[in-house]
Amino acid sequence: MKTTLRHCKHLLICLTAILPLFYPIPLPANPIVQVSFTPKIIKQGDVLLITVKAGPWIHRISGALFDKTIRFYRNPGRDAYTALVGIDLDTYPKRYTLSLSLEDEREGIIKKDFEIQVASADFRTQRLTLPKEKVDLDEETLKRVNLEKEEIDKIWDISTTDHLWEGNFIKPVEGVIDDNFGFRRVINGEPRSSHTGIDIDAPEGAPVYAANQGRVVFTGDQFLSGKGLVIDHGLGLLTMYFHLSEILVTAGEDVKKGQVIARVGKTGRATGPHLHWGLRLNGARVNPASMLNLSLE
Ligand SMILES: [Zn+2]
Repeated sequence: MKTTLRHCKHLLICLTAILPLFYPIPLPANPIVQVSFTPKIIKQGDVLLITVKAGPWIHRISGALFDKTIRFYRNPGRDAYTALVGIDLDTYPKRYTLSLSLEDEREGIIKKDFEIQVASADFRTQRLTLPKEKVDLDEETLKRVNLEKEEIDKIWDISTTDHLWEGNFIKPVEGVIDDNFGFRRVINGEPRSSHTGIDIDAPEGAPVYAANQGRVVFTGDQFLSGKGLVIDHGLGLLTMYFHLSEILVTAGEDVKKGQVIARVGKTGRATGPHLHWGLRLNGARVNPASMLNLSLE
């Protein structure tokens, strides 16, 4: 070092060059990380928005809840990382641990745990009367229904790892939302599975819009859900549109938010024309209406 200094014409410049090697700039021991959750009270069937504001040293964030990976994406509008987590309608109401892992360029991996209280949504019971042949299925129809269920269940895992949606989600049809998400159904006096979407009342033929940008990953005509389609918005988020009278897109097609993708109908097991709108988020069955309340911009 003495040699280096002796050869320097300007001591100050030399010190500036040498000092950082021995006196690193002091860094805060705990980098400032702000984590916020929306909504504040989290219920069964909700979409939970996690926003992480962190300094420029953080270059990657991952997390886990219910033993499932939480996928974060960079949200330039908010200068933050954000992630959407689905709280399945059958999640037992209790406290859960949400773990975050932040990769800091200077300090390595920083781990943070949060307690998340899932409250009961107190889903009501809905009693419906439907034609007997639509409920008490013969063996052949039951076989068809099971095969169709298998076919659609495969879709929930194929979501692209790209983030395709842009900004807020929109209501896919003009009409009154029948907030019957999660209702325990009793059909013709018999308890049946829960209602995993919401119904929007609209006349036959009314246009159905894509709730956000994405890619059509399924179109079909099933016994229960009738003519329907599914859009993949990326990162495990998919929206579904059922009981349509007409499908105007094909599987593999990219769609824009607000694009007319179908027309309202009453195909499949439906009591009248309406849109059944559903949302899956990393396999969780969540209320699509809770997506409309989230500001993602
Ligand atoms: Zn429905």
